[in-house]
Amino acid sequence: MSGNEQKYIDDVFKSNYIAPMGEFVNQFEKSIVDYTETDYALALSSATAGLHLALRVLGINKGDFVLTSSFTFIASVNSILYQNALPIFIDSDESWNISPTLLKEAIKKSPKKPKALIITHLYGQMAKIDEIIEICKDNNIYLIEDSAESLGASFNGKQSGTFGDFGVFSFNGNKILTTSGGGMLVSDNKEWIEKAKFLSTQAKEPFLHYEHQEYGYNYRMSNVLSAIGVAQMEVLKARVDRKREIYNIYKRELSNIDEISFMPEIPNSEGNRWLTTIVFNITNPIKIINNLENHNIESRPVWKPMHMQPLFKNSITIEDGTSENLFKKGLCLPSGTAMSNQDIIKVSEIIKKGI
Ligand SMILES: *Cc1c(COP(=O)(O)O)cnc(C)c1O
Repeated sequence: MSGNEQKYIDDVFKSNYIAPMGEFVNQFEKSIVDYTETDYALALSSATAGLHLALRVLGINKGDFVLTSSFTFIASVNSILYQNALPIFIDSDESWNISPTLLKEAIKKSPKKPKALIITHLYGQMAKIDEIIEICKDNNIYLIEDSAESLGASFNGKQSGTFGDFGVFSFNGNKILTTSGGGMLVSDNKEWIEKAKFLSTQAKEPFLHYEHQEYGYNYRMSNVLSAIGVAQMEVLKARVDRKREIYNIYKRELSNIDEISFMPEIPNSEGNRWLTTIVFNITNPIKIINNLENHNIESRPVWKPMHMQPLFKNSITIEDGTSENLFKKGLCLPSGTAMSNQDIIKVSEIIKKGI
């Protein structure tokens, strides 16, 4: 937390307007609209809810195919299952993010025309968004950006989440900003955001009594959590700067070691470096994780690709081994903005000793 969260929460409690709606919900949405230069934003209970609403609004239904990054967190993909649609998993390239080449191949191999693509900007680093947009346009496929990890990242100065038909940000506890839990759906399409808002509040028709023609969800964010979000948005720029600094210190400490390489940043982009992530050439990352654990320092393997998950053993995958290899050799380093420079140097020393 940065300081103002408690003050704004106090304002909420004084007003006695805890939920459902309230002034901070509007303010939080406006702060996202202003920062990311999108047209419309909808505050939700999670990014997962945002992805689900995006698919529902775009009319993705039972039996439809949805293309998606394989190298991501399960939440990117769960929304596809909620709609009884079918994921087609696409591997990464040297950027670690979705491969445009394999994306084209997946479109060709899909049993019927895929309706949408969900891409993740992994660990806060931008995917090759310009190439991806072209492919989606050429093939008439909706683009949804899972920007849960990449709030504040940009490509050619344009913010992550604002390139696609929809973008989604997360304010879960582990993300660059947090409201304890929460998400934001953004789009330049007013009707879509209005429809998503309607569905996020139980699809109540505009009658005095409760009237329903279709089913909705309880996906809206409360005024209390929005108050936290407003305060968090005030420090977004500072958080991105510190995350990038943390990356730079790790890079300085570890880059002269042949064994280690870092997740790249594609040209013309600026990632938020949510997590600093590395791959080893031969060292087993589990050994390093255990060394760090012995010093009471937490680290984790990178995401296990979706096409390797038992849940998706029957799904279509277009892969060339890239993300599988990253999974076997990759490591997420402690990257919290509360770490001191000394902490980062200590982690680096333990890593170096273990190689
Ligand atoms: C955290 C995360 C989500 C889910 O966000 P919630 O707000 O927890 O629902 C989705 N996709 C990715 C890539 C994430 O890292």
